Amino acid sequence: MLSNLTIVVPCYNEEQVLLETNKQLTSIINDQIVQKLIGSDSRILYVDDGSYDNTWSIIEQLSDESSIVTGLKFSRNFGHQNALLAGLEMASKHANMAITIDADLQDDVNIIPRMVEAYSNGNDVVYAVRNNRDTDTFFKRKTAELFYGTMKKMGVDMIPNHADYRLMSNRAIKGLLKYSERNLFLRGIVPLIGYQSTKVYYARKKRFAGTSKYPLKKMLSFAMDGITSFSIAPIRMIMYLGVLIVLMSVGLMIYTLVSHVLGNVTPGWSSLMISIWFIGGVQLLALSVLGEYIGKIFTETKKRPRFEIEKDKYSSSFKND
Ligand code: UDP
Ligand code: MG
Repeated sequence: MLSNLTIVVPCYNEEQVLLETNKQLTSIINDQIVQKLIGSDSRILYVDDGSYDNTWSIIEQLSDESSIVTGLKFSRNFGHQNALLAGLEMASKHANMAITIDADLQDDVNIIPRMVEAYSNGNDVVYAVRNNRDTDTFFKRKTAELFYGTMKKMGVDMIPNHADYRLMSNRAIKGLLKYSERNLFLRGIVPLIGYQSTKVYYARKKRFAGTSKYPLKKMLSFAMDGITSFSIAPIRMIMYLGVLIVLMSVGLMIYTLVSHVLGNVTPGWSSLMISIWFIGGVQLLALSVLGEYIGKIFTETKKRPRFEIEKDKYSSSFKND
C-alpha cells in the first residue's frame, strides 16, 4: 500500500505568494517519482493563522479547484508554531507522513521527492537543512549563529540550520503530540522524540513575495522561549555569578581590614557605592531570570488551548471520498 502524504503550510497574510506556492507544491505532488511513493489520499493543507488579508479566500478558491488542496482556518492568529502543530495534529488522523514547509517558497520544494524517498527507506524524521545562509541579512545570520551556539552550550540537541522544514512519519507526529507544553518550540522537541532520522540539504532562497512575518520582537521572544523551555542553565549561571560575587566581596573585606590595620584609612565612599550598585544590578538580573521561569510555570499551568479551528476543509476532504 502506498503511503499518504500531507504537506502542511502555515500561512499568515500570504496572499502574495499563495498562488505560486500552490502551483509549485501541486506540481511536486504530481511529480512522477513522488507519485510512485505516495497514495492517492495525499493532500496539501494550508493553515490560515488568522490572516487579515485575502489568504483564506484564496485557500477556499484553490481547494474548490483541486481535490488535493485543503485548508484549516484559525479563529485568530495563534503563531507559526501552533499553526504547524494544528496541521500536524490533523494530518496524524489521515496521513502516513507529513511535511511542514513555509508558505513563502524560501524552502526549496524540489527536495520533497528526496524527503519522501528517505521516508520510504525507513526514516521517521527527515530534516531539511540549509547548506548556507547567504540569502539572510548579516544581522539575521549573526543572531541565528549566536542563538544556535547558546542552545548548544546549554546542552539542547538542535539540528543547526534546520528550521521547520521537515518530514515526519505518523508515529513521530503522534510522539510529538504527547508534548503538551503551551510554548512549543518544535525544532527543539522533534529530536527528543527519537526514531531513525536523516538530513536532506538545500539552498534557502529569498522570500518569493511579501515581507517577513517575523519581526525582531517576535524573533527575540521566540529565542527566549527556546532557551527557557529547554534548559535551566541560565538559573545555574546566576548561581555561579552569586558565588563569584561573594568571593569578591570577601576579598574586598580582607583588603579593607588590612588597610585599616596598616592605618591607610580610605574614605570608603567609592567602594561602598560600587558594591551597592553592583549587587543591586546582579539581584535584578537574577530576579528577571527567575521571573522568566515562573512566568513559564504560570502560562503552562493554565493549560490554555494552543489553537482554535474555525473552519476545517481538510477532514471533510476525506469524508467525501
Ligand atoms: N507564519 C504564521 N503565523 C505567524 C507568523 C508567520 O503562520 O504568526 C508563517 C508565515 O506565513 C510563513 C512561515 O510562518 O509561512 C514563516 O514566516 P516568515 O517567512 O515570515 O519568517 P522568516 O522566513 O522571515 O523567518
Ligand atoms: Mg520566510
